[in-house]
Amino acid sequence: MARTISCKNCGEVLFNIAPNSKNIECICDKCNAITILNNDMEYQVYERYCKNCGGQYFKVKKSQNDFKESISIECTNCGQGPGTHYVDKEDKTIDRGTRELLIMSDEINKIKKELEALRSRTYNLELDRLSVDREVSLDRDVKREKHRIVDLSSEIASLTKKSRKSK
Ligand SMILES: [Zn+2]
Ligand SMILES: [Zn+2]
Repeated sequence: MARTISCKNCGEVLFNIAPNSKNIECICDKCNAITILNNDMEYQVYERYCKNCGGQYFKVKKSQNDFKESISIECTNCGQGPGTHYVDKEDKTIDRGTRELLIMSDEINKIKKELEALRSRTYNLELDRLSVDREVSLDRDVKREKHRIVDLSSEIASLTKKSRKSK
């Protein structure tokens, strides 16, 4: 079920949207109080005006499913959403390709961290194996972790290749 957001101060449901990369700032049309919502788009921000008609008054709805909360912003004139554009971490406008590269490099970094954690776990497992007599099951654990490392390494390689290609 979608719930319409209203101003906490005066109850108004018409808002102006202020561009901001970290949050969605909804400025009440009546009293100018600001309601801040989380911006869950990656490297993308809302603009002040409707992408279709240029209107600047919006209704904001929040809906919740099992996994996450989503926000929809509708122009009171035509029902479309505000325009959007891509930005980097410093809020500078970027093009679509640059955005894709940023998302990809975030993914690579995430995988690298996971890989690092796996390596140290594997190392500890090897140490365990040397010191105790649980060889068979530990052997299996070590093998499984090693496989995972190989998988992740090739994933990184292919992501890196992809990101080079799209440069
Ligand atoms: Zn208000
Ligand atoms: Zn509109």
